[in-house]
Amino acid sequence: MELQSLIRDIPNFPKPGIIFRDITTLLSDAQGLKNTIDTLANRCIDSNLVPDYIVGIESRGFIFGTPLAYKLNAGFIPVRKPGKLPAAVHSIKYDLEYGQDSLEIHQDAIPSNSKVLIVDDLIATGGTARATADLVNQIGAEILGFAFVIELKDLQGRNKLPSLPIINLLEY
Ligand code: AMP
Repeated sequence: MELQSLIRDIPNFPKPGIIFRDITTLLSDAQGLKNTIDTLANRCIDSNLVPDYIVGIESRGFIFGTPLAYKLNAGFIPVRKPGKLPAAVHSIKYDLEYGQDSLEIHQDAIPSNSKVLIVDDLIATGGTARATADLVNQIGAEILGFAFVIELKDLQGRNKLPSLPIINLLEY
């Protein structure tokens, strides 16, 4: 099945010049959702990316990261927007394709010797995934790699990431 056909392009959202890749139409398709998670899990296993924890980035990284963690028998750790996590956090500022933001992780979320896979729906400029990698590094856990449903190739976001395996299902 063609996953790309389940993703809807919304031009000029959230601002002029951006083509927003809307995954809600993929999520609502039962077979598409199942194929996405199963394919991500198989690609991780084939690439020997079998982590102790999936770190998912708010909020669409939660949607794909949690079922992927379940399939890989891993735990799930949320990286969240500021002010959402209740216990002591590490915090980092980063640049988006459109704007600036910060992200937080619980300081005690991951044992320092564990292996982590970072998951989000989409990599654009790479700023979000890079900031998440920096947060995981602050904890001292080992990053095995990254998994995205969509990679926007032209923005070369992968160049911002440490040289580790990167899985994607779709390239634009
Ligand atoms: P970046 O930090 O530039 O790699 O941006 C990645 C984050 O922004 C991801 O969490 C995406 O969900 C979101 N994002 C950036 N660009 C787009 C886009 N064109 N369509 C949908 N989501 C996007």
